[in-house]
Amino acid sequence: MTTTAAPATAPFRFFDVHVVRSRRLGPAMLRVTFGGERLDELASGGRDQRFKLFLPQPHQDRPVFDDLGEGWYTAWRAQDPAERAVMRSYTIREQRPDSGEFDVDFALHGAEPGASPTLSTPFAQGSAPLTAGGPASRWAAAARPGDRLTVLAPAVEDNGGVDFRPPAGTDWILITGDETALPAIAGILSWLSPGTQAKVFIEIGHEDDRQPLPTFADAEVSWLVRGPATAAHHEPVLDALRTAALPAGTPYAWVAGESGTVKAVRRHLVRERGFDRRAVKFTGYWRRGASEEDLLAELTAGAAAAEQD
Ligand SMILES: Cc1cc2nc3c(=O)[nH]c(=O)nc-3n(C[C@H](O)[C@H](O)[C@H](O)COP(=O)(O)OP(=O)(O)OC[C@H]3O[C@@H](n4cnc5c(N)ncnc54)[C@H](O)[C@@H]3O)c2cc1C
Repeated sequence: MTTTAAPATAPFRFFDVHVVRSRRLGPAMLRVTFGGERLDELASGGRDQRFKLFLPQPHQDRPVFDDLGEGWYTAWRAQDPAERAVMRSYTIREQRPDSGEFDVDFALHGAEPGASPTLSTPFAQGSAPLTAGGPASRWAAAARPGDRLTVLAPAVEDNGGVDFRPPAGTDWILITGDETALPAIAGILSWLSPGTQAKVFIEIGHEDDRQPLPTFADAEVSWLVRGPATAAHHEPVLDALRTAALPAGTPYAWVAGESGTVKAVRRHLVRERGFDRRAVKFTGYWRRGASEEDLLAELTAGAAAAEQD
């Protein structure tokens, strides 16, 4: 099995990009392909490579920044929230350096039970409507070739934006996630060495959001479709894990998706399955009822409180 240690640095750089094309992958998944002049300098580490997307406000044709230098974050925070670029976290699904393109797969949310779908696409029934969801989901649903945005993305392959790093001595891999983690899961599976044993649980809203996940690994993938009636309370990943027979040997787990589910899965693995907590990499990709701004504000307040202690 391939293993890697985390690098000490996280060299990220701003790139201006534009939409080349977009394509529906399923009722709730949309692939946007980006191009740009300096994209030969972008270097994805593959797997769950995270990066930041900066979207224009609805009344702008490109994201507006006061400073793209070292002090960008302070300048960005000081900007008027109605004017500054909307920052969101996403995964580089695939980079094609030869054609200067990369893909991002967006989970379109807002069509959960209770919302009324309005899109007229081949996936219109149960698809995410253009008006619901958050700014990123809405932007992606409406993206057209030529639309401009800015990304903060890695300039070297071995960067701090890759979390999937099974240590030496790992015997098998456990992966769980929802639609938002599907791009990362696809990237991880395509990276695993031949013969690596992997158990994968993926929660999706629609049967048709399943997609091929090419891998050399010996991977068993379970697609868990949320039921419309029980979507609010049912936890398909946790339910499936509770009854799953897991392989023997030393595991490494990668857990992502909705924060509450991620916490519950981690608790189950550590307390009930005896996983070493250091061998469970867990990341809340979103939290029910909170936008990414809300989560960032919480983190900032937490860091400020810690500094005062
Ligand atoms: C490291 C990392 C990598 C990520 N990679 C991807 C990726 O490749 N593809 C992807 O689609 N997402 C990915 N996400 C998740 C994505 O950043 C969030 O879903 C984000 O909140 C979407 O922004 P938004 O503007 O659409 O919604 P926000 O404005 O942030 O949220 C608005 C409302 O929508 C809710 N919401 C947010 N996401 C969902 C959802 N998926 N389903 C239901 N309700 C939701 C929020 O709880 C909130 O109530 C990633 C997150 C992280 C941290």
